[in-house]
Amino acid sequence: SPASPLLQLRDLQIAYGQIQAVKGIDLELFEGELVSLIGANGAGKTTTLNAIAGTLNSSGGELIYRGESIVSLPTHKRLRAGIALVPEGRGIFTRLTVEENLRMGAYTRNDQEGIEADLDNVYRMLPRVKERLAQVAGTLSGGEQQMVAIGRALLSRPKLLLLDEPSMGLAPLIVEKIFEVIQTVQKQGVTILLVEQNANLALGFSSRAYVMESGKISLSGSGEDLLKDPKVRAAYLGE
Ligand code: ATP
Repeated sequence: SPASPLLQLRDLQIAYGQIQAVKGIDLELFEGELVSLIGANGAGKTTTLNAIAGTLNSSGGELIYRGESIVSLPTHKRLRAGIALVPEGRGIFTRLTVEENLRMGAYTRNDQEGIEADLDNVYRMLPRVKERLAQVAGTLSGGEQQMVAIGRALLSRPKLLLLDEPSMGLAPLIVEKIFEVIQTVQKQGVTILLVEQNANLALGFSSRAYVMESGKISLSGSGEDLLKDPKVRAAYLGE
């Protein structure tokens, strides 16, 4: 039903050995939303995204996706179920070409026609990427690599796209381009959970957001309200 969340984190906990990095968080994502997760370095944002994608195991609590627990599903099954991660640092295959990188995103699929249609969609959305299909990905600029990483994730035809710091290390003009692409992806019906250091930018684009602090959610609300919140402004917007 439209009222039930696409993804639900219930008291989710994640530990690295003895270190509790995420200390029981609750979060909900509804279909079609763009929600951001902001907070200082080390707050646990990347850890949370990795636990949703399954590249990291949670140690307690629940992850409910489309009404079912996914905590015991391996990463490739979560990917096949529609959860794709664009990791921090992009994780592209530097020795492969742009086209090979994009096609890697479809490794869990065997619907050739669907894959070609999704490639065409990515080429339309990212003309810069289309111009460089034969180029070795390691020689691309940072912005181009980020676009390839997003394109690759789209080749899995995700329902839920997890983006970890897509603006990291990029010039403002390129960041603007990346965020235009993110909005286009959202308009195509993909639900997005975005981790961003640049809180101002993230909140401006998000319907809702959560603030993470030392492994916990300290605040949540609409992007607009959080942008106005004096605590958020003081802690994350440099005021
Ligand atoms: P950043 O923006 O710096 O990545 P973050 O909010 O994404 O910050 P995490 O990377 O999720 O934060 O880190 C959360 C906590 O977990 C930090 O205290 C960090 O030191 C710790 N941590 C992260 N990865 C590991 C690891 N592999 N082993 C041990 N501790 C880790």
